[in-house]
Amino acid sequence: MTTLTKTLELKLVEPNAHKRRKLRETREAYQQALHDAFDAGCTTQTEANDVVVNYKLSGYAKNALKKYVPQLTTTYNAGELHDAHPVRFTNEGLRLDHKPENAIEWYVKIPHHEDYHLWMPAQPNPEQRDWLEALNAGDATMGESRLFERDGTWYLHVTATRDAEGGSEVSDEERTPIGVDIGEASLVTVCHRDDHGCPTAPELWADEGKTVRRLRKTYFTATRRLQTRGSERIAESFGDDLWNQIDDVFHRVTREVVDYAESVKNPVLVLENLTYIRESMDYGEYMNRRLHGWGFAKLHAQIRYKAVEKGIPVKTVNPRNTSKECHACGEVGYRPQQATFKCTNDACWMGEYQADVNGAVNIADRYLSGESRFREHENDDDSAEDGGRLTAPQDSQADATKQETLGTYAS
Ligand SMILES: [Zn+2]
Repeated sequence: MTTLTKTLELKLVEPNAHKRRKLRETREAYQQALHDAFDAGCTTQTEANDVVVNYKLSGYAKNALKKYVPQLTTTYNAGELHDAHPVRFTNEGLRLDHKPENAIEWYVKIPHHEDYHLWMPAQPNPEQRDWLEALNAGDATMGESRLFERDGTWYLHVTATRDAEGGSEVSDEERTPIGVDIGEASLVTVCHRDDHGCPTAPELWADEGKTVRRLRKTYFTATRRLQTRGSERIAESFGDDLWNQIDDVFHRVTREVVDYAESVKNPVLVLENLTYIRESMDYGEYMNRRLHGWGFAKLHAQIRYKAVEKGIPVKTVNPRNTSKECHACGEVGYRPQQATFKCTNDACWMGEYQADVNGAVNIADRYLSGESRFREHENDDDSAEDGGRLTAPQDSQADATKQETLGTYAS
Protein backbone atom coordinates (compact mmCIF):
# COMPACT_ATOMS: atom_id res chain seq x y z
CA MET A 1 0.00 0.00 0.00
CA THR A 2 1.34 3.44 -0.88
CA THR A 3 0.04 6.89 -0.15
CA LEU A 4 -0.74 9.42 -2.85
CA THR A 5 -0.51 13.12 -2.09
CA LYS A 6 -1.75 15.94 -4.23
CA THR A 7 -2.34 19.66 -4.04
CA LEU A 8 -5.92 20.28 -5.07
CA GLU A 9 -6.65 23.57 -6.77
CA LEU A 10 -9.90 25.39 -6.16
CA LYS A 11 -10.88 28.77 -7.49
CA LEU A 12 -13.39 30.73 -5.42
CA VAL A 13 -16.22 31.78 -7.68
CA GLU A 14 -16.96 35.49 -7.72
CA PRO A 15 -17.23 36.19 -4.03
CA ASN A 16 -19.52 39.14 -3.33
CA ALA A 17 -18.23 42.38 -1.77
CA HIS A 18 -18.98 41.21 1.77
CA LYS A 19 -17.09 37.96 1.37
CA ARG A 20 -14.19 39.65 -0.37
CA ARG A 21 -13.87 41.98 2.58
CA LYS A 22 -13.88 39.05 5.00
CA LEU A 23 -11.20 37.27 2.98
CA ARG A 24 -9.04 40.39 2.99
CA GLU A 25 -9.53 40.81 6.73
CA THR A 26 -8.36 37.27 7.28
CA ARG A 27 -5.34 37.84 5.08
CA GLU A 28 -4.38 41.11 6.80
CA ALA A 29 -4.71 39.68 10.29
CA TYR A 30 -2.69 36.66 9.22
CA GLN A 31 0.10 38.74 7.66
CA GLN A 32 0.40 40.91 10.77
CA ALA A 33 0.50 37.92 13.06
CA LEU A 34 3.09 36.27 10.85
CA HIS A 35 5.31 39.35 10.73
CA ASP A 36 5.04 39.97 14.45
CA ALA A 37 5.88 36.39 15.35
CA PHE A 38 8.72 36.38 12.86
CA ASP A 39 10.11 39.73 14.05
CA ALA A 40 9.87 38.48 17.64
CA GLY A 41 12.13 35.62 16.55
CA CYS A 42 9.81 32.88 17.82
CA THR A 43 11.57 29.55 17.45
CA THR A 44 9.06 27.33 19.27
CA GLN A 45 5.32 26.76 19.00
CA THR A 46 4.83 28.11 22.51
CA GLU A 47 6.63 31.35 21.73
CA ALA A 48 4.68 31.75 18.49
CA ASN A 49 1.45 31.03 20.32
CA ASP A 50 2.05 33.89 22.73
CA VAL A 51 2.20 36.30 19.79
CA VAL A 52 -0.53 35.01 17.48
CA VAL A 53 -3.09 34.31 20.19
CA ASN A 54 -4.16 37.97 20.25
CA TYR A 55 -5.08 38.20 16.59
CA LYS A 56 -8.56 37.99 15.17
CA LEU A 57 -7.98 34.70 13.42
CA SER A 58 -9.47 31.23 13.53
CA GLY A 59 -7.75 28.55 15.58
CA TYR A 60 -6.86 26.82 12.31
CA ALA A 61 -4.87 29.80 11.07
CA LYS A 62 -3.24 30.31 14.46
CA ASN A 63 -2.22 26.68 14.69
CA ALA A 64 -0.78 26.84 11.19
CA LEU A 65 1.24 29.91 12.21
CA LYS A 66 2.51 28.19 15.36
CA LYS A 67 3.93 25.43 13.18
CA TYR A 68 5.09 27.66 10.35
CA VAL A 69 6.86 30.52 12.14
CA PRO A 70 9.45 28.35 13.97
CA GLN A 71 10.24 26.72 10.59
CA LEU A 72 10.83 30.14 9.05
CA THR A 73 12.92 31.57 11.88
CA THR A 74 15.14 28.51 12.06
CA THR A 75 15.56 28.20 8.29
CA TYR A 76 15.98 31.83 7.26
CA ASN A 77 18.49 34.17 8.86
CA ALA A 78 16.14 36.83 10.06
CA GLY A 79 15.94 38.11 6.49
CA GLU A 80 13.11 40.16 5.15
CA LEU A 81 9.76 38.45 5.13
CA HIS A 82 7.93 39.19 1.92
CA ASP A 83 4.24 39.99 1.83
CA ALA A 84 2.98 37.29 -0.47
CA HIS A 85 2.57 34.51 2.06
CA PRO A 86 -0.67 32.62 1.61
CA VAL A 87 -2.94 32.22 4.60
CA ARG A 88 -2.44 28.73 5.97
CA PHE A 89 -5.00 26.65 7.79
CA THR A 90 -4.38 23.36 9.59
CA ASN A 91 -6.09 20.23 8.33
CA GLU A 92 -9.39 20.48 10.15
CA GLY A 93 -10.00 24.05 9.03
CA LEU A 94 -11.59 23.51 5.68
CA ARG A 95 -14.79 21.69 4.89
CA LEU A 96 -15.99 20.57 1.50
CA ASP A 97 -19.57 20.16 0.36
CA HIS A 98 -21.01 18.91 -2.89
CA LYS A 99 -24.31 20.09 -4.35
CA PRO A 100 -24.56 18.41 -7.74
CA GLU A 101 -27.92 20.08 -8.37
CA ASN A 102 -26.33 23.55 -8.49
CA ALA A 103 -24.57 25.16 -11.42
CA ILE A 104 -21.53 25.55 -9.17
CA GLU A 105 -21.31 22.13 -7.57
CA TRP A 106 -18.63 22.46 -4.93
CA TYR A 107 -18.58 24.57 -1.78
CA VAL A 108 -15.81 25.17 0.72
CA LYS A 109 -16.04 26.39 4.26
CA ILE A 110 -13.26 28.84 4.99
CA PRO A 111 -12.52 29.81 8.60
CA HIS A 112 -12.59 33.56 9.25
CA HIS A 113 -12.07 33.95 12.97
CA GLU A 114 -13.32 32.14 16.06
CA ASP A 115 -16.85 30.83 15.51
CA TYR A 116 -17.13 32.55 12.18
CA HIS A 117 -16.64 31.04 8.77
CA LEU A 118 -17.60 31.57 5.15
CA TRP A 119 -19.21 29.02 2.84
CA MET A 120 -18.16 29.79 -0.69
CA PRO A 121 -18.77 28.22 -4.10
CA ALA A 122 -15.57 26.94 -5.64
CA GLN A 123 -14.50 25.63 -9.01
CA PRO A 124 -12.05 22.75 -8.80
CA ASN A 125 -9.50 21.77 -11.38
CA PRO A 126 -11.61 19.35 -13.47
CA GLU A 127 -8.69 16.91 -13.70
CA GLN A 128 -8.91 16.46 -9.94
CA ARG A 129 -12.52 15.44 -9.73
CA ASP A 130 -11.65 11.95 -8.48
CA TRP A 131 -9.84 13.51 -5.52
CA LEU A 132 -12.84 15.64 -4.60
CA GLU A 133 -15.14 12.64 -4.74
CA ALA A 134 -12.71 10.74 -2.50
CA LEU A 135 -12.52 13.64 -0.03
CA ASN A 136 -16.27 14.07 -0.02
CA ALA A 137 -16.74 10.38 0.73
CA GLY A 138 -14.11 10.41 3.49
CA ASP A 139 -11.82 8.16 1.42
CA ALA A 140 -9.10 10.81 1.23
CA THR A 141 -7.70 12.97 4.02
CA MET A 142 -7.39 16.71 3.89
CA GLY A 143 -4.11 18.23 5.01
CA GLU A 144 -3.06 21.84 5.29
CA SER A 145 -4.66 24.40 3.00
CA ARG A 146 -3.51 27.75 1.68
CA LEU A 147 -5.65 30.71 0.71
CA PHE A 148 -4.31 33.42 -1.59
CA GLU A 149 -5.29 36.05 -4.12
CA ARG A 150 -3.76 36.34 -7.56
CA ASP A 151 -4.79 38.97 -10.12
CA GLY A 152 -7.98 39.69 -8.23
CA THR A 153 -9.06 36.05 -7.98
CA TRP A 154 -9.03 34.03 -4.78
CA TYR A 155 -7.71 30.48 -4.73
CA LEU A 156 -7.48 27.66 -2.26
CA HIS A 157 -4.82 25.01 -2.47
CA VAL A 158 -5.54 21.96 -0.38
CA THR A 159 -3.14 19.12 0.34
CA ALA A 160 -4.87 15.75 0.20
CA THR A 161 -3.72 12.17 0.70
CA ARG A 162 -5.25 8.80 -0.05
CA ASP A 163 -4.26 5.18 -0.22
CA ALA A 164 -3.33 3.39 -3.41
CA GLU A 165 -2.38 -0.15 -4.20
CA GLY A 166 0.65 -0.59 -6.42
CA GLY A 167 -0.39 -2.04 -9.78
CA SER A 168 0.97 -5.38 -10.98
CA GLU A 169 3.72 -5.49 -13.60
CA VAL A 170 1.58 -6.62 -16.50
CA SER A 171 1.94 -5.27 -20.01
CA ASP A 172 -0.98 -3.46 -21.63
CA GLU A 173 -1.49 -6.31 -24.10
CA GLU A 174 -1.84 -8.87 -21.33
CA ARG A 175 -4.63 -7.00 -19.63
CA THR A 176 -8.30 -7.84 -19.89
CA PRO A 177 -10.26 -4.73 -20.79
CA ILE A 178 -13.57 -4.31 -18.99
CA GLY A 179 -15.94 -1.94 -20.76
CA VAL A 180 -17.90 0.37 -18.48
CA ASP A 181 -21.01 1.89 -20.02
CA ILE A 182 -22.91 4.54 -18.10
CA GLY A 183 -26.50 5.06 -19.12
CA GLU A 184 -29.95 6.17 -18.16
CA ALA A 185 -31.79 2.83 -18.14
CA SER A 186 -29.06 0.71 -16.65
CA LEU A 187 -27.05 3.07 -14.48
CA VAL A 188 -23.85 1.16 -15.23
CA THR A 189 -23.18 -1.87 -17.41
CA VAL A 190 -19.89 -3.78 -17.48
CA CYS A 191 -18.72 -6.59 -19.72
CA HIS A 192 -15.48 -8.12 -20.96
CA ARG A 193 -14.39 -10.79 -23.45
CA ASP A 194 -13.19 -14.20 -22.31
CA ASP A 195 -10.02 -15.97 -23.54
CA HIS A 196 -11.84 -16.98 -26.72
CA GLY A 197 -12.99 -13.44 -27.41
CA CYS A 198 -16.63 -14.04 -26.46
CA PRO A 199 -18.41 -11.36 -24.42
CA THR A 200 -18.85 -12.79 -20.95
CA ALA A 201 -20.21 -12.06 -17.48
CA PRO A 202 -22.19 -8.92 -18.30
CA GLU A 203 -23.46 -7.10 -15.25
CA LEU A 204 -26.14 -4.43 -15.30
CA TRP A 205 -27.23 -2.07 -12.54
CA ALA A 206 -30.75 -1.54 -13.89
CA ASP A 207 -32.66 -1.23 -10.59
CA GLU A 208 -30.23 1.46 -9.51
CA GLY A 209 -30.92 3.30 -12.77
CA LYS A 210 -34.60 3.21 -11.87
CA THR A 211 -33.93 4.43 -8.33
CA VAL A 212 -31.83 7.35 -9.50
CA ARG A 213 -34.44 8.37 -12.08
CA ARG A 214 -37.14 8.30 -9.42
CA LEU A 215 -35.10 10.34 -6.93
CA ARG A 216 -34.21 12.90 -9.55
CA LYS A 217 -37.83 13.25 -10.62
CA THR A 218 -38.92 13.66 -7.00
CA TYR A 219 -36.29 16.30 -6.56
CA PHE A 220 -37.36 18.39 -9.53
CA THR A 221 -41.11 18.24 -8.89
CA ALA A 222 -40.94 18.66 -5.11
CA THR A 223 -38.40 21.44 -4.98
CA ARG A 224 -40.21 23.40 -7.67
CA ARG A 225 -43.41 23.15 -5.64
CA LEU A 226 -41.65 24.16 -2.43
CA GLN A 227 -39.93 27.06 -4.14
CA THR A 228 -43.14 28.47 -5.59
CA ARG A 229 -44.52 28.40 -2.05
CA GLY A 230 -41.49 30.36 -0.92
CA SER A 231 -40.11 27.53 1.20
CA GLU A 232 -36.56 27.89 -0.10
CA ARG A 233 -34.93 26.49 3.02
CA ILE A 234 -37.10 23.38 3.14
CA ALA A 235 -36.53 22.92 -0.58
CA GLU A 236 -32.80 23.06 -0.04
CA SER A 237 -32.58 20.57 2.81
CA PHE A 238 -35.03 18.25 1.06
CA GLY A 239 -32.92 18.52 -2.08
CA ASP A 240 -29.70 17.81 -0.19
CA ASP A 241 -31.25 14.71 1.29
CA LEU A 242 -32.30 13.37 -2.12
CA TRP A 243 -28.91 14.03 -3.69
CA ASN A 244 -27.25 12.29 -0.78
CA GLN A 245 -29.42 9.26 -1.46
CA ILE A 246 -28.36 9.35 -5.11
CA ASP A 247 -24.73 9.66 -4.07
CA ASP A 248 -25.12 6.60 -1.80
CA VAL A 249 -26.39 4.61 -4.79
CA PHE A 250 -23.45 5.85 -6.86
CA HIS A 251 -20.93 4.84 -4.22
CA ARG A 252 -22.36 1.36 -3.87
CA VAL A 253 -22.48 0.79 -7.63
CA THR A 254 -18.95 2.11 -8.25
CA ARG A 255 -17.63 -0.11 -5.46
CA GLU A 256 -19.33 -3.09 -7.10
CA VAL A 257 -17.85 -2.16 -10.49
CA VAL A 258 -14.36 -2.22 -8.95
CA ASP A 259 -15.21 -5.54 -7.23
CA TYR A 260 -16.16 -6.91 -10.64
CA ALA A 261 -12.81 -5.79 -12.03
CA GLU A 262 -11.00 -7.46 -9.13
CA SER A 263 -12.63 -10.77 -10.05
CA VAL A 264 -11.09 -10.62 -13.53
CA LYS A 265 -7.46 -11.59 -14.19
CA ASN A 266 -5.19 -8.59 -14.94
CA PRO A 267 -8.08 -6.18 -15.35
CA VAL A 268 -8.13 -2.69 -16.81
CA LEU A 269 -11.29 -0.61 -16.54
CA VAL A 270 -12.18 1.19 -19.76
CA LEU A 271 -14.29 4.34 -19.61
CA GLU A 272 -15.44 6.75 -22.26
CA ASN A 273 -13.39 9.91 -22.52
CA LEU A 274 -15.40 12.85 -21.18
CA THR A 275 -13.35 15.40 -23.08
CA TYR A 276 -14.34 13.84 -26.36
CA ILE A 277 -17.93 13.83 -25.26
CA ARG A 278 -17.86 17.51 -24.38
CA GLU A 279 -16.23 18.48 -27.65
CA SER A 280 -18.39 16.22 -29.72
CA MET A 281 -20.94 17.83 -32.03
CA ASP A 282 -23.73 15.55 -30.85
CA TYR A 283 -23.17 16.30 -27.17
CA GLY A 284 -26.88 16.97 -26.63
CA GLU A 285 -27.93 13.77 -28.24
CA TYR A 286 -25.27 11.89 -26.35
CA MET A 287 -26.34 13.26 -23.01
CA ASN A 288 -30.00 12.63 -23.73
CA ARG A 289 -29.48 8.92 -23.45
CA ARG A 290 -27.25 9.49 -20.43
CA LEU A 291 -27.53 10.98 -17.04
CA HIS A 292 -26.96 14.67 -16.84
CA GLY A 293 -23.32 15.59 -17.05
CA TRP A 294 -22.86 15.63 -13.29
CA GLY A 295 -23.93 12.03 -12.82
CA PHE A 296 -21.63 10.90 -15.55
CA ALA A 297 -18.64 12.80 -14.20
CA LYS A 298 -19.40 11.75 -10.64
CA LEU A 299 -19.60 8.05 -11.49
CA HIS A 300 -16.39 8.27 -13.49
CA ALA A 301 -14.55 10.04 -10.68
CA GLN A 302 -15.74 7.53 -8.10
CA ILE A 303 -14.74 4.56 -10.25
CA ARG A 304 -11.33 6.13 -10.83
CA TYR A 305 -10.36 6.66 -7.25
CA LYS A 306 -11.76 3.32 -6.07
CA ALA A 307 -9.85 1.54 -8.84
CA VAL A 308 -6.61 3.28 -7.80
CA GLU A 309 -7.22 2.11 -4.22
CA LYS A 310 -7.20 -1.46 -5.55
CA GLY A 311 -4.30 -1.02 -7.97
CA ILE A 312 -6.54 -1.42 -11.02
CA PRO A 313 -5.60 0.78 -14.00
CA VAL A 314 -8.23 2.90 -15.73
CA LYS A 315 -8.11 3.94 -19.37
CA THR A 316 -10.38 6.18 -21.43
CA VAL A 317 -11.35 5.77 -25.08
CA ASN A 318 -13.15 7.66 -27.82
CA PRO A 319 -16.89 7.32 -27.12
CA ARG A 320 -18.00 7.86 -30.70
CA ASN A 321 -20.74 5.40 -31.71
CA THR A 322 -20.14 3.04 -28.81
CA SER A 323 -23.89 2.62 -28.48
CA LYS A 324 -24.57 2.49 -32.21
CA GLU A 325 -22.03 0.00 -33.51
CA CYS A 326 -22.47 -3.75 -33.53
CA HIS A 327 -19.72 -5.29 -31.38
CA ALA A 328 -19.58 -8.31 -33.68
CA CYS A 329 -19.25 -6.67 -37.10
CA GLY A 330 -18.93 -2.91 -36.58
CA GLU A 331 -22.03 -2.02 -38.58
CA VAL A 332 -24.01 0.94 -37.26
CA GLY A 333 -27.35 -0.46 -36.15
CA TYR A 334 -30.30 0.94 -34.17
CA ARG A 335 -32.40 0.43 -31.05
CA PRO A 336 -35.96 -0.77 -31.69
CA GLN A 337 -36.37 -0.44 -27.89
CA GLN A 338 -34.22 1.25 -25.29
CA ALA A 339 -32.76 -2.04 -24.09
CA THR A 340 -32.31 -3.70 -27.51
CA PHE A 341 -29.65 -3.19 -30.13
CA LYS A 342 -30.33 -4.48 -33.63
CA CYS A 343 -27.57 -5.07 -36.15
CA THR A 344 -28.61 -4.20 -39.72
CA ASN A 345 -25.85 -6.19 -41.39
CA ASP A 346 -27.48 -9.24 -43.07
CA ALA A 347 -24.20 -11.11 -43.05
CA CYS A 348 -23.76 -10.68 -39.27
CA TRP A 349 -24.76 -13.53 -36.99
CA MET A 350 -25.84 -11.26 -34.23
CA GLY A 351 -29.26 -9.83 -35.03
CA GLU A 352 -30.43 -8.52 -31.64
CA TYR A 353 -28.41 -7.93 -28.49
CA GLN A 354 -28.84 -6.26 -25.12
CA ALA A 355 -28.06 -2.64 -26.01
CA ASP A 356 -26.08 -1.65 -22.91
CA VAL A 357 -23.97 -4.81 -23.01
CA ASN A 358 -23.26 -4.18 -26.69
CA GLY A 359 -22.08 -0.69 -25.70
CA ALA A 360 -19.87 -2.03 -22.90
CA VAL A 361 -18.21 -4.55 -25.24
CA ASN A 362 -17.56 -1.79 -27.79
CA ILE A 363 -15.92 0.32 -25.09
CA ALA A 364 -13.74 -2.62 -23.97
CA ASP A 365 -12.73 -3.27 -27.59
CA ARG A 366 -11.26 0.22 -27.89
CA TYR A 367 -8.82 -0.41 -25.07
CA LEU A 368 -5.52 -0.73 -26.91
CA SER A 369 -6.09 1.69 -29.78
CA GLY A 370 -8.52 4.07 -28.12
CA GLU A 371 -10.70 3.77 -31.22
CA SER A 372 -13.24 1.34 -32.62
CA ARG A 373 -11.47 -1.80 -33.79
CA PHE A 374 -13.54 -1.78 -36.95
CA ARG A 375 -12.62 1.71 -37.93
CA GLU A 376 -9.00 0.89 -37.20
CA HIS A 377 -9.35 -2.07 -39.48
CA GLU A 378 -10.72 0.06 -42.31
CA ASN A 379 -7.73 2.29 -42.02
CA ASP A 380 -5.20 -0.53 -42.11
CA ASP A 381 -3.02 -0.41 -45.19
CA ASP A 382 -3.72 -4.11 -45.61
CA SER A 383 -0.23 -5.17 -46.62
CA ALA A 384 -0.61 -8.51 -44.82
CA GLU A 385 -1.56 -12.02 -45.96
CA ASP A 386 -3.97 -11.33 -48.79
CA GLY A 387 -1.52 -9.03 -50.48
CA GLY A 388 -3.16 -5.79 -51.36
CA ARG A 389 -6.47 -4.08 -50.93
CA LEU A 390 -9.65 -5.73 -52.00
CA THR A 391 -11.60 -2.53 -51.90
CA ALA A 392 -12.70 -0.77 -55.05
CA PRO A 393 -11.46 2.79 -55.68
CA GLN A 394 -14.72 4.38 -54.60
CA ASP A 395 -14.46 2.46 -51.31
CA SER A 396 -11.00 3.82 -50.73
CA GLN A 397 -12.43 7.25 -51.31
CA ALA A 398 -15.11 6.51 -48.74
CA ASP A 399 -12.45 5.33 -46.33
CA ALA A 400 -10.49 8.51 -46.80
CA THR A 401 -13.55 10.63 -46.04
CA LYS A 402 -14.27 8.60 -42.97
CA GLN A 403 -10.74 8.97 -41.78
CA GLU A 404 -10.88 12.70 -42.27
CA THR A 405 -14.08 12.95 -40.26
CA LEU A 406 -12.50 10.89 -37.55
CA GLY A 407 -9.45 13.11 -37.54
CA THR A 408 -11.49 16.25 -37.10
CA TYR A 409 -13.46 14.63 -34.36
CA ALA A 410 -10.49 13.35 -32.45
CA SER A 411 -8.44 16.53 -32.63
ZN1 LIG B 1 -23.31 -7.04 -36.59
